[in-house]
Amino acid sequence: MAEEKPAYKRVLLKISGEALGGPSGQGLDFRFMEQVCGVVARCAALGVELGIVVGGGNFWRGVKNGEGHMDRARADYMGMLATVMNSLALQDVLEQQGVRAGVMTAIEIQHIGETFSVDRANAWFREGRVIIFAGGVGSPFFTTDTGTVLRAALVGADIILLAKNVDGVYSADPRQDPSAVRYDCLTYEEVLARHLAVMDSTATCMAMDNHIPVMVFALKDPENILRAVRGETVGTIVR
Ligand code: UDP
Repeated sequence: MAEEKPAYKRVLLKISGEALGGPSGQGLDFRFMEQVCGVVARCAALGVELGIVVGGGNFWRGVKNGEGHMDRARADYMGMLATVMNSLALQDVLEQQGVRAGVMTAIEIQHIGETFSVDRANAWFREGRVIIFAGGVGSPFFTTDTGTVLRAALVGADIILLAKNVDGVYSADPRQDPSAVRYDCLTYEEVLARHLAVMDSTATCMAMDNHIPVMVFALKDPENILRAVRGETVGTIVR
């Protein structure tokens, strides 16, 4: 049998913190993380160079949890620390599955991860490590979605896989509007003009300016990651 080849050489997967929290969206659902990491292991075995950007919303979001109580920038730094906690958990579960994984942080945090640099990231990819990018862009007033696009641009990823709690991009919130329709394909301009809930506008603009396609799909079925890596269109593709 011919060896199966991935459709992309280098892929950046974004997993929101909420997704790691399982049905409650809070804390860490290790059973679910094992399922996700099992699929990541199969992607890595195909030879795809895989980076994972993880959010922090299962523990803390700067605006949502801190607004009215504390300084925005400080609250955002707490959010970045939440992404670091998730990254360490993900690294551990990946290693339990036999995957070589390393954490790179946007802000220097000695002993916990290596500070991000393009050269080191390229070296780790060449060594076959899955890289977990923690801390978003490393600055308050940004999100891990923007961090994902920034890392994708910096390491030259072919595609961003946006694993969410919905199975694609809809014309309206499908939980509130039963007439909402799911799009198969959208342009960045359409996403921006229609204010569609894909990523925040900063992240969408950056993906558009750097011509990085974004595939949006549900993480609920982790096999979707493998399908996407094999080149199948799952959910909605924005390009
Ligand atoms: N955050 C930040 N700068 C970044 C990335 C994240 O300030 O570059 C903070 C921000 O407070 C955000 C929190 O970290 O609310 C968690 O990130 P995000 O909301 O993107 O996580 P997700 O919703 O994907 O779980």
